[in-house]
Amino acid sequence: MTAEGELDDFAVFDAYPDEMIDHDNIDHYRAMIGRRLVIRHCRDCGYWVYPHRPVCPECLSWDVPFEEVSGRGRVFMETRLHQLRDPKAQIYEPLVAAAVELEEREVLRYLARIVNCDLDAIALDMPVQLTWIEEDGITWPAFEPAGAS
Ligand SMILES: [Zn+2]
Repeated sequence: MTAEGELDDFAVFDAYPDEMIDHDNIDHYRAMIGRRLVIRHCRDCGYWVYPHRPVCPECLSWDVPFEEVSGRGRVFMETRLHQLRDPKAQIYEPLVAAAVELEEREVLRYLARIVNCDLDAIALDMPVQLTWIEEDGITWPAFEPAGAS
């Protein structure tokens, strides 16, 4: 039993109050509290199942436990947000949101921010690695250039 496995469901809801947490994804968020990125991995055919769902879309197996991923991947696409959804919110440097294709399989793309990188240096297919950021007391996965830390 891992440390975050001891956190009950209410602790996960408290840690991510604005997220749509359900039975199929709660262990993903529970792991994020402990700074582990986990995705369902089919024990029958080896397929990485994402977005989260309780059955493997390749072989229809229900044996798809969460497993930690390497955190290594490449930038598949990125977009820059110059203003937050709240029109009164000001951000002075664009946030970079990206779809990172994880090395576990093709088309396994995880959405997260790109950090610790000059905006001009961000390029498609750039190798990145998992890191973690804290915003308003909430822990989020993010990606930075490979070898950055
Ligand atoms: Zn499968």
